[in-house]
Amino acid sequence: MAKASNSAPKNIRNGLDAETVKWDFAETLKYTMGVDSYSATEHDRYMALAYAVRDRLINQWLQTQRTHHDKDVKRVYYLSLEFLMGRAMGNNVINSGIEGAVRKALDELGYDFEELREQEIDAGLGNGGLGRLAACFIDSMATLDLPAFGYGLRYDYGIFRQEIDNGYQVEHPDDWLRNGNPWEIERPDISVEVNFGGRVVATEDNGKINYRWIDTDSVVGVAYDQPIVGYGGNTVNTLRLWGARANEEFSFYDFNAGDYAEAVADRVQAENLTRVLYPNDTLYLGKELRLKQQYFFVACSLADIIRRFKKSGKKWTELPKMAAIQLNDTHPSIAVAELMRVLIDEEGLDWDSAWDITVNTMGYTNHTLMPEALEKWSVPMFEKLLPRHLQLIYEINHRFLSKVAVKFPGDTAKLRDMSIIEEGEPKMIRMAFLAIVGSHSVNGVAALHTELLKARLVPNFASMWPERFNNKTNGITQRRFLLKSNPPLAELLTETVGDGWITQLSELEQIRSKAKDATFQKKIAKVKLEAKKRLAEYVEKDYGYKLDTSHIFDIQIKRIHEYKRQLLNALHIIMLYNRIKRGDTKDMAPRTFIFGGKAAPGYQMAKLIIKLINNIATVINNDPDVNKYLQVYFLGNYRVSLAERLIPAADVSEQISTAGTEASGTGNMKFMANGALTIGTLDGANIEIKEEAGDDNIFIFGMNADEVEALRPVYDPYQYYLEDTEIKEALDLLFSGYFNFGEPGIFEPIRQTLFERGDNYMHLADLRSYADAHDQVVKTYNNQKKWLEMSINNIAGCGKFSSDRTIHQYAEDIWNVKPCKVERNTEGDDTLIEATLKGKK
Ligand SMILES: *Cc1c(COP(=O)(O)O)cnc(C)c1O
Repeated sequence: MAKASNSAPKNIRNGLDAETVKWDFAETLKYTMGVDSYSATEHDRYMALAYAVRDRLINQWLQTQRTHHDKDVKRVYYLSLEFLMGRAMGNNVINSGIEGAVRKALDELGYDFEELREQEIDAGLGNGGLGRLAACFIDSMATLDLPAFGYGLRYDYGIFRQEIDNGYQVEHPDDWLRNGNPWEIERPDISVEVNFGGRVVATEDNGKINYRWIDTDSVVGVAYDQPIVGYGGNTVNTLRLWGARANEEFSFYDFNAGDYAEAVADRVQAENLTRVLYPNDTLYLGKELRLKQQYFFVACSLADIIRRFKKSGKKWTELPKMAAIQLNDTHPSIAVAELMRVLIDEEGLDWDSAWDITVNTMGYTNHTLMPEALEKWSVPMFEKLLPRHLQLIYEINHRFLSKVAVKFPGDTAKLRDMSIIEEGEPKMIRMAFLAIVGSHSVNGVAALHTELLKARLVPNFASMWPERFNNKTNGITQRRFLLKSNPPLAELLTETVGDGWITQLSELEQIRSKAKDATFQKKIAKVKLEAKKRLAEYVEKDYGYKLDTSHIFDIQIKRIHEYKRQLLNALHIIMLYNRIKRGDTKDMAPRTFIFGGKAAPGYQMAKLIIKLINNIATVINNDPDVNKYLQVYFLGNYRVSLAERLIPAADVSEQISTAGTEASGTGNMKFMANGALTIGTLDGANIEIKEEAGDDNIFIFGMNADEVEALRPVYDPYQYYLEDTEIKEALDLLFSGYFNFGEPGIFEPIRQTLFERGDNYMHLADLRSYADAHDQVVKTYNNQKKWLEMSINNIAGCGKFSSDRTIHQYAEDIWNVKPCKVERNTEGDDTLIEATLKGKK
């Protein structure tokens, strides 16, 4: 037997070469997973590799915290109820620069990195774009060397797993932690006690009134930390997620009274607080448990921020110079009241000082204008849970409205419209108003969205504080959505313009000069075909569908929502079906339409649209006259890791929301960077994509936001049905029951939505224009030279849509946070471990 231990290398846990990675992997398999190479499962090997990779992040993680502390830097705190992280393995090995070593190590051991990483379950702690934005942002903050923390909740169950059964969405719990999470470190020592309920008592002390919040129930938040590696590996920031635990003292009385089982059951109840992510995207439900989650999250995060600040020994007025808190939507907007409570009730500050500090620390990002998404908490529910915060909000409102009264004398309608408290039965707290009043910055997420935010949603606030409002067009990280997810394209781009684009995406502008270059076009075409083949292989393995890679891949992936108009796409597919059945197939390039997306479990119309798409798919894919021209697939359980496979393979990106409804979109940006051409409305960031790609490099159709607004009062969907025979025939076929032969009447609610409930998202008004734009898509595709030129111009123009650009703007305009370089810790583990080995002295 070989004496392996004699050849053990140094730095097993932090070496950056394949040899040390192998040793760490083997040791972890043995000592942490407790298996030998015969009994180890693929999952054991994934875990061992993940721990070996995590080991290699620890030095810079500690070094980063030490550097930020020693240099006493201002930090960003990004507060988000959602972080849609997806998988960590690929991103971590790429950003830390050890991908080569890891691949080599596994290769030499006879394991396949690609297969191993398939073991990782997506961290799905978000619904869609808002949660993915938070994930892209923390990647960019680390890459830009910004001292930053992401704060969120550690839900035991993330966004549900979607299965499709007989065409219907079925939800399954996402037990993502069942096999353990190798990327997180639990920190039981970092914990916060959070109070709920109880009552407020006022006491007078030397003429000053003090408020005490007493008789509360409490829950404890425990920190779970995950390293966030910037590209290059020097800065490693922290994503800190809070998990709920029962207080040690909780139910002490019941224990002593002998009702042991009852007391334990109560403890379990407390821990339900962070059990599950609410699965609604852009839909607000006034659920008490959700309000509890929000306050728990905010209280834990602010306590942590304040604890860190207090260690510095600085005066309270310095807080805005040391901390920038960004609120991702109104979900964490109770932070305004909570910071006031801490500063006044716990730290003894006067109102005006506390208010200055609060406003100068907070920034608020608005994500939607849609009324059903705006959070409003009922005053009675709020009062029961957070009585002291309600008092503070009333006082904030009172002082705010006095200012409004000065600005607009005698205008009582203004006072009512702008009040944080909405009159009615019950009264409601308008959380967006609280966030606006309590922040020095309010930003929208795309140029159009910010304009509409100011003009339509909160015009009075915009005229009162014009300087407070600003735009920060969203972005995506090219490290995940190009470098990691599309290696052949990444290689081609690097070979053509160098690798600067990985951190400076606008470097890709250089390829515009090659847009008409036949040799370069050929390479782009080859890379796209490779991506389509990779997708086809995966889809066949995971779904059993055989995709035809000679087809145009036309993809719509996003949450299923009426405003995103998957139904518009479906109606157009029926029009194409009729054309093919009629024999009208001249110039028709074969197309495969691919859909993916989850519907909120309670959103019946969205779920019915999934069923419709699946039923259309069944009819079309099984019709031999049709399926050579047209195929349709709905891929279940859309999530980040599936997005990473689909987007590189897309020829056409569907971004077809009713103008004025999609705040930005970020899926649109991922597709653009991968050379797909967009068919889209003048909505959200599509407008900016058009500007950056060039007007001729996108397929725009339909009404703009002003036209939608102007048509709305007189819109008659029936008229569009009567006046366009092709539209009429498609709708007649659908509502004849043709696609639901065995289930009569199931699509009746869709007919009612379109014709009897006024087609709120104006599908019929845009359908003709959409169909014509699709004809243009096909015509262009048939001219491959033109198509590839346009595709290259899209890649060339995608630079603006890097989240690095977005984060740079937040840092400069809102946060005033500067980059802080972190030195490479070349001494490795040694100094830290030696310090421990010296023992305590
Ligand atoms: C990017 C992304 C989204 C957002 O897509 P939109 O088209 O902007 O709505 C949603 N879900 C996942 C998994 C994503 O990666």
